[in-house]
Amino acid sequence: MNDAQRKPFVGGNWKMNTDRASGADLGGAVAREVHGASGVDVAVFPPFPYLLPVGEAVRGSGVILGAQDVYHQASGAFTGEVSVGMLADCGVGAVLAGHSERRHVIGEDDRAVNRKLRATLAGGMVSVLCVGETLEQREAGETDAVNERQTRLGLAEVSEEDMARVVIAYEPVWAIGTGRTATPEDAQDAHAKIRGVVSQLFGETVASSVRIIYGGSMKPDNAEALMAQPDIDGGLIGGASLKAADFAAIVRAGAGAARA
Ligand code: PEP
Repeated sequence: MNDAQRKPFVGGNWKMNTDRASGADLGGAVAREVHGASGVDVAVFPPFPYLLPVGEAVRGSGVILGAQDVYHQASGAFTGEVSVGMLADCGVGAVLAGHSERRHVIGEDDRAVNRKLRATLAGGMVSVLCVGETLEQREAGETDAVNERQTRLGLAEVSEEDMARVVIAYEPVWAIGTGRTATPEDAQDAHAKIRGVVSQLFGETVASSVRIIYGGSMKPDNAEALMAQPDIDGGLIGGASLKAADFAAIVRAGAGAARA
């Protein structure tokens, strides 16, 4: 873990999984399993319809209720969209922006991602900005350029003060849901470069305090090695977050890395 005393952040992105009962059960199990895991920020990101029951299930546990998406407008004629205020009303404290499935499956561009991020921050919540290259971009040697572009555009017009509520998730697209994980060294290299971009944008103090977490097939058996890297400050977990015991094991790896 880092020597800058960054508190690890471990988030479970449930994607379009669970139902009302199993979501509440999973939330309750996560709350019980991670109880007492001090020194780590833990968040779960259930589907929109289950925010309230999952929020109930994690209430009082310290687990942050997260949302997978948001629309930047406050209210009005935006059929199908959900605002920051609505999420706050449901007890949400953190929101994803720019997850690769939203970028590459739904078609969101950097401008939309930046609007979501800024609206989330304006609402007083944590925004988790996801960046990362596709396999094609990696093979073309474009990894660093893609990460730099998505980081710069994602963080456009964000104040230094608001950066305290930004978490950046480096998620190589080829590693998400595929069982392929970046090696700790490759991930560390990308994280250090992203931190360098944050330093150029906001200065060294912000860069050394912003949490940069890894996502892409993180599991209990690889979490420790990844989070032992100096610039990896936690994880965004998809598949493994659907099993409370696996997710809790990753949270414990984060807590161990923080103490190391
Ligand atoms: C994700 O959805 O952000 C993710 C990293 O998924 P997985 O852990 O399944 O690769």
